[in-house]
Amino acid sequence: MWNEHLRSVEKSQTLLLNEQSRNLEDAGQEVFKFGFGQSPFPPLASAVDALRDHAGRKDYTPVQGLPTLRAKVAEFHKSVDGFDVTADQVLVAPGSKILLYTVLAAFERADVFIPAPAWVSYAPQARLLGHTAIKLPTAFEQRWRIDAQALTKAVQRKADPSVPSVLILNYPGNPDGLSYTDAELQALALACRRHNVLVISDEIYGLLHHSGEHVSLARHHPHGTIVTSGLSKWCGAGGWRLGVALLPRALPGAFKDTLLGIASETYSCASTPVQMAACSAYEVHREVRDYLAHQRRLLGTLGRWVATELNAASVQVHPPQGGFYLFPDFSPLARKLERIGVHTSQDLCSRLLAETGVVLLPGDAFGMRPQHLCARLAYVDFDGPRALARSAQLGLNCALAPTEFETLFGKTTRGIRKLTQWLAAL
Ligand code: PLP
Repeated sequence: MWNEHLRSVEKSQTLLLNEQSRNLEDAGQEVFKFGFGQSPFPPLASAVDALRDHAGRKDYTPVQGLPTLRAKVAEFHKSVDGFDVTADQVLVAPGSKILLYTVLAAFERADVFIPAPAWVSYAPQARLLGHTAIKLPTAFEQRWRIDAQALTKAVQRKADPSVPSVLILNYPGNPDGLSYTDAELQALALACRRHNVLVISDEIYGLLHHSGEHVSLARHHPHGTIVTSGLSKWCGAGGWRLGVALLPRALPGAFKDTLLGIASETYSCASTPVQMAACSAYEVHREVRDYLAHQRRLLGTLGRWVATELNAASVQVHPPQGGFYLFPDFSPLARKLERIGVHTSQDLCSRLLAETGVVLLPGDAFGMRPQHLCARLAYVDFDGPRALARSAQLGLNCALAPTEFETLFGKTTRGIRKLTQWLAAL
């Protein structure tokens, strides 16, 4: 009748929580929206102009994407990531999410290794396609990162070594905001080469590395890495739906044909006006550099502040390195939380929402055990356009003064204080 695998796919918990918090807000309660991970910033101004200018473009583009855009994406990533990539290796689609799905769909059967915590959609996508999703657990002490040894062990334990292995890596990470060091990436690349693991490296937050030091895995594992990215995060344009995949040059022609076949039979192509707008975003010029530098400065400053406040309230959390998420671990407060009937991350998030108006997403949505008291915090509840404009006015050489900080991020700081006060009263 219907696809059995669909039954295990729940309605995305992220969207559900967003809906619940909207209901609370409609009822007049102040809600601190740290649940939904959407960029607070406006899209790049020149890209908005280009979108407007090309709204009349109505023809389908080639399935792989507009040749001009693919050339620009290749040049852009070559320049910012420092590895060789040409236009024929670029695949453009309506969002990177569908690209992840397309790559996974290209396999008849695969063992898909997914670190935990990880973004909510990887495991459902793998299961939907009938693949085996294999969890690679991590811990706070390991900065929620997997290492080459853990990967090697997992690959050696495979039930059927003839089934292809795919690893999904994501850094700077959703839900943790953390990255890998160059040495860690080299070790992972070596393990992947040795054990013939294809990596989907989800680098959608790469350009939002707070100090601009993102290193793509493709530099160390060029023949076995498919990098995915797009306009959703660094260009503040999630709803435009534009994603890109950078395919390895050595990828067998038949694999690329399969990807294009799936694309052609499903989404056809990304929207033409959006591809034209992307042509203007994927250029390394002053406007783009400044736009990124200000976002990084704002996100880095706020993320570090939130992490410091949470640490002072006995919550374990690593200061973020990129993107706009933190993954606080409330385990040190487990005894106190137990006393008020909080035993799971779901309990924790629903109590927090009801008693403080703070929305966090429970750790179990990210593949953690339900009893592990962790949650994702997206520090994006502030006026992005205003913060970006003020940051530009101040210039990059001038630090954000405390009063400035409070003015720009007042809602976030208020929400974090509500949260820490709630914890202090336990
Ligand atoms: N990967 C991660 C880690 C994400 O957080 C998201 C969006 O939230 C995506 C992929 C999907 O992005 P897109 O909008 O390009 O489909």
